[in-house]
Amino acid sequence: MLEPEIEALERDDLLKLQNGKLAALGERLARSPEWVEHFRQAGLKPGDLADRQALEALPFLEKSQLRERYPLPMLGVETAAVQRFCATSGTTGLPVLFGFTDNDIDLLARQVARQLYSHGVRPGDRGYNGFGFGLWAGGLAYDIGMAELGVTNFPLGPGRSDLVVEWLKDMEWTLATVSPVFLSSLIRAAKEKGIDPKRHWKLQHAVIGGQSVSRAFRDELEAEMPEGFRSFNTYGTTEAGGPIVASTCPWSHERDEMHLMNEDSVLVEILDPETLTPVGPGEVGELVVTTLDKEASPVVRWRTRDLVRVAEHSGGCPCGRKGMGAIGRIIGRSDDMLKVRGVIVYPSQIEDVVAATPGTVKEAWQIYVDQPGSSPNSVTVAIEQENGYNGNPDDLAAAVGRSLTSRLGLKVPVECHPAGALPRYEAKAQRVLVRS
Ligand SMILES: [Zn+2]
Repeated sequence: MLEPEIEALERDDLLKLQNGKLAALGERLARSPEWVEHFRQAGLKPGDLADRQALEALPFLEKSQLRERYPLPMLGVETAAVQRFCATSGTTGLPVLFGFTDNDIDLLARQVARQLYSHGVRPGDRGYNGFGFGLWAGGLAYDIGMAELGVTNFPLGPGRSDLVVEWLKDMEWTLATVSPVFLSSLIRAAKEKGIDPKRHWKLQHAVIGGQSVSRAFRDELEAEMPEGFRSFNTYGTTEAGGPIVASTCPWSHERDEMHLMNEDSVLVEILDPETLTPVGPGEVGELVVTTLDKEASPVVRWRTRDLVRVAEHSGGCPCGRKGMGAIGRIIGRSDDMLKVRGVIVYPSQIEDVVAATPGTVKEAWQIYVDQPGSSPNSVTVAIEQENGYNGNPDDLAAAVGRSLTSRLGLKVPVECHPAGALPRYEAKAQRVLVRS
């Protein structure tokens, strides 16, 4: 552990730390008219934010509330004290801007360095930062996180795969931060050039962020890589301050879980998306985050809409993070949760089936519904047939259809397209589309 005095805290001590920071957050928010107004609408004031129990009485923060306060919503400091802005991808409407003060940037660097260290990355490692830059927080976060830990950074960003596959060999990069789809395209590009990733690359750690991937997809990636290589899931959002909410250690990687790695600075509630009350171990809920240390753009009870399963046992990991919560992979968005003829369907269930069926393109699949909203009358799943697959597309569609029926308890029509026909996504994929 990079900061064992925090990371190894017992649960009770961690909660005490959070409570103290909540009260300090309330004091800071009391100086911001927008925040005072936000609390007032719920009949409260920021000073009520005394502990975790008080937090549970507070209103949620929704994207629509930030949009109403365009262009610079809910800042906790003067704009002049903001060092830079980041933004959400803006796939639905204008991007929403989130500021970072100098202290916020330092915080982000420490949060990311802690995660990198937990993956096994050490000072002296060589990192290829393949995340995007500009307004997206991903590139920035890993630039400063690598600097904080003492990793030598090659900030090439995404794209230029011809160069990346050569430099993975020649520069002996041991760490890569990439989207999983890009990493799998790099493996293909390397092989076309006669480079064998297993023998010619030195890569040991990949931070695969921006997209949630199935375990089958992850296992397939790892099998193509040098001995000892692991890909590490991370989860975060711009609203929470970057890709820093949850991340894997080598043991939680085996269990396909993530620790809530920065719970001392990001408080996480996991709530039933319908009743908005906490769910228990093993249950599925929506992540709701409160930033405890952020100055420029704090959030209090931000509804991420991302659904996860709470781990059965959060303590007791051999890494020693006994007080931190643990979650499974992101299984979809509460917006994307569908109720089809009375059966709940998460996009991740469909992803798992597609990924586990030989002959499909793992990253390209869609769910088409006949009307907006979470209770469509009809659902169709679209997949792609991999180039070079010899089978018949109708048989491939039928195989996926059979697995879906047994997995979901629901008969779903499946259509099979040639490789490249369906949309690709750089950041968060939009799996559910309306098609009438
Ligand atoms: Zn662990």
